[in-house]
Amino acid sequence: MSRRCIGWNKKSLKEMLEESERVFKETGYYCGIDKLRLKEEDPFRYERAYAGLRGALVSARETALHIAASPIVREIGELCFALYTPEGDSIVVSTGILVHVHTMSEAIKFMIRENYEEDPGINPGDIFLNNDPQCGNVHTTDVQTLIPIFWKDELIGWAGGVTHQVDTGGIVPGHDLTSAIQRFDDGVYYTCLKIGSNDKIWKDHLINARRSVRTPLYWELDEKCRLAGDLMIRDAIYKFIEREGIDYYKQFIREAIEETRRIFKERVKERLIPGRYRAASFFDIPSKETAWQPRAKVDKISNEPIEIIVKEDGSISLSFDGASGPGANPMNCDKGAMEGGQWVLLTQVLIYGDKVNDGAYLAVETDYPLGTWSNAGDPYLSYQSPWGNLIPAYTGMMKCLSYGLFSRGYREEVIPGYGFTGDAIQGGGVYSAGPLMGQRWALSTFEISGQGLGASAVRDGLDWGYAMWNPEADLGDVETWELFQGGIPYLSRRVKPNNAGYGKYRGGANYEGVAMIANSRDVDFFGAREGMVFHGSGGMHGGYPQPTAYRLYAKKTNMKEIIEKQKDYPLGDPDPANGEFERLLKGEITRKEYCTIYPITLENYDLIHYALSGGPGYGDPLERRLDLVKQDLNDGIYTKDIVYKVYGVVANYDEQRGEWVVDEEATRKRREEIRRERKEKSVPFNEYWERERKKIIEGKLCDAVKIMYSESLRLSKRWAKEFREFWRLPEDFMVEVK
Ligand code: MN
Repeated sequence: MSRRCIGWNKKSLKEMLEESERVFKETGYYCGIDKLRLKEEDPFRYERAYAGLRGALVSARETALHIAASPIVREIGELCFALYTPEGDSIVVSTGILVHVHTMSEAIKFMIRENYEEDPGINPGDIFLNNDPQCGNVHTTDVQTLIPIFWKDELIGWAGGVTHQVDTGGIVPGHDLTSAIQRFDDGVYYTCLKIGSNDKIWKDHLINARRSVRTPLYWELDEKCRLAGDLMIRDAIYKFIEREGIDYYKQFIREAIEETRRIFKERVKERLIPGRYRAASFFDIPSKETAWQPRAKVDKISNEPIEIIVKEDGSISLSFDGASGPGANPMNCDKGAMEGGQWVLLTQVLIYGDKVNDGAYLAVETDYPLGTWSNAGDPYLSYQSPWGNLIPAYTGMMKCLSYGLFSRGYREEVIPGYGFTGDAIQGGGVYSAGPLMGQRWALSTFEISGQGLGASAVRDGLDWGYAMWNPEADLGDVETWELFQGGIPYLSRRVKPNNAGYGKYRGGANYEGVAMIANSRDVDFFGAREGMVFHGSGGMHGGYPQPTAYRLYAKKTNMKEIIEKQKDYPLGDPDPANGEFERLLKGEITRKEYCTIYPITLENYDLIHYALSGGPGYGDPLERRLDLVKQDLNDGIYTKDIVYKVYGVVANYDEQRGEWVVDEEATRKRREEIRRERKEKSVPFNEYWERERKKIIEGKLCDAVKIMYSESLRLSKRWAKEFREFWRLPEDFMVEVK
């Protein structure tokens, strides 16, 4: 090879990566580092070095998002930055959407394995762009900018930044497209593409990108934001090397990863008990009624069984063996999505120290079986909204870890799950009046980043303040969202009653909202969340899952007249059985028992409702303290009837005092009554087992369940064997789908 290599000691990057993988396999240590020499020799210098790098990344993120960024990025910080080794292993990360730390690692490794070093070349000042889920990314909406960092003639690392876009030019406007069923619906694809040199983004790329999405201004702002952050990181690395020396830097970045790998294993030993943990999760994708494409017209449920083996040495293996198949929907996952989802949650439960990097990734063995939704293996499927499967699937991991944490006595760390970061209302339209007439607006409210967290074993879940993919969740200000979705102003945002999973400790509660189309034409609207099946693995130790989502909207309304006459209009849907929409509006009101719909068109004065997700509960609701129930009533978290039926609490509103009062004696009796009812209604396990077994043998399952079981039985021999053994079915038993 005539070209001089850019790796260390005259090696090519490919050689460096292969060597790194081989040495880890042979020695069990990252880069064969069996001794943390720098840390042992001078721990203060070592810790200062790490803190310095971390500070540089956090400040790059904070600065970049104020230099230039779209509202979605600026408002809720929907971005993050990371520093990587030449081989693409993360060393240190900023705050933010940590889901992407390992995803960018896979993108760098893709470029190395494809020998970008030779063609198209990796030079100082080059800029690479990636949003391809086949190259480590989660979905096309997440856009990554990666730059190589050189010291003299050697590549010494990569800086990467990622933002979540409002729109990526897919089949319909939006960022999580329910109607995408194939790669060609997912929007613009940039597969590790070189888009600039000498620290400048090429003009031809900018022209192309502007024409590829519906929100070119936000695209361009975010592109500048990511590059600005990357360049600040590069400057910080140069200062680091001037201070500490290049030899220290080279040894340090590797030790930092090896140290984190060890910390992870120590943390596992300290927090969990070795053994086999299992949990079941599900997600329903009802598309039969609203899908456009004939082959997408099917109601599916994903089977998301998880098994985690905690080993005595502190390492963990995780498997989705038994998962059901992919489909003509956007919820299919590839490795990047699976690694990202897993990573971001592990950083919250087990890797929460100051050092967060790929060392932890190296301590976890994973199995995403090929041909399942978790590793579809078909590049032509859609991967636009893998979150649909990811979010519920990893509640199973949280539950498994929670069993371990509980057993070790870390009861405050227990989190049986979280709310679904969904009902992302999406779409957009064109202003038909006002100063922005003729311009597009995008409906991409990011309130979804404020969901209810699950209850722990000692306290209620956090209300409206959690997103599994961003540990710094923030649902943002209505005023900011209205800046770019001006054609659909909010009429309300308020607490949605009975949204928190029941339990001795309740899940986090959440909001609902109503918005109205105004001054617009050509409006598309859709939303996505679970439907009739509880998402995820539910509550724990007697706690309930949070309620499922639904869809409510009104067309051809009399809102014009209501506004003119200043009459009451719906501000929410606190009691669906006696809906405000039905009581206060004239028009065509639609309620669907599932949330995810393909886009519909809306006109001025049409109303939409959305509800964010609560979190699952912990423990028996009959054990909930009365003062807490009273507080729930006063805060509008629960209504009187639910408190009576589920919590066995008799309460009345005292008009004079302006608060709820619990009748303790009536409550004692009511709770006794519920306990009696439970005894009367419950059946021995054998009876239940016989009854369910009969349904399976006679095929008395709904179509979506049949499809799910038949896929799992076909895809995993091991899962099929366990299923057949448990239900005592013939060895060749299959669930037949008509
Ligand atoms: Mn995203």
